[in-house]
Amino acid sequence: MPCKRSSLSSVLTRQAHSDYLTGLDNRRHFLEQAENELVRTLRYDRDLSILMIDIDHFKQVNDTYGHKVGDIVLQKFAAVCRATLRNIDVIGRIGGEEFAVLLPEAGREQAMDAAERLRAALACTQVKLDGGLPLHVTASFGVVTLEEKDTNIDMLLNQADQALYHAKNQGRNRVCIYPFADNKQ
Ligand code: GH3
Ligand code: MG
Ligand code: MG
Repeated sequence: MPCKRSSLSSVLTRQAHSDYLTGLDNRRHFLEQAENELVRTLRYDRDLSILMIDIDHFKQVNDTYGHKVGDIVLQKFAAVCRATLRNIDVIGRIGGEEFAVLLPEAGREQAMDAAERLRAALACTQVKLDGGLPLHVTASFGVVTLEEKDTNIDMLLNQADQALYHAKNQGRNRVCIYPFADNKQ
């Protein structure tokens, strides 16, 4: 009996932490892990980077092919992230077609490499549709690396978000790092 109860509780915990569609960490669980990782990183004086990712023109995918296909694209995106990133990276779905990744032990260069690898992997991924041409999607990326001790997760996510929107403004399907050229203090 105790065994059954503990396996049920681990299933319930997993469900509470996961996004139902992609199986990635949900927003709340991602943020909890980000807070913990930031504390660990600061205590041991390690590296930490964060990616913010937003799928490009996703509304058009839904409008052209339907919401179901949109859902398949989101699931495919999650699979590409899992296959491309390291096991220690934490991938969260933090909004509809917005994702965040914690990259523990990754400095600026490693984070840029990881983002660029993921961007390229996604851009060449095909989503096969029933009776039609395969669909391609791209995403834009914002990167931030922990540099100041006096920071918090909200600030880091906000900086990664600013870099992401710079990537959108620069034409999408690209990676931008915070601080970007017209934002350096
Ligand atoms: P941009 O390149 O500027 O990011 O444009 P966009 O079209 O991706 O951005 P916008 O925010 O206008 O559209 C996001 C769309 O994502 C709209 C919403 O219907 C869709 N969406 C959000 N959550 C889901 C979901 O769970 N499934 C599906 N299929 N679509 C979703
Ligand atoms: Mg969006
Ligand atoms: Mg989008």
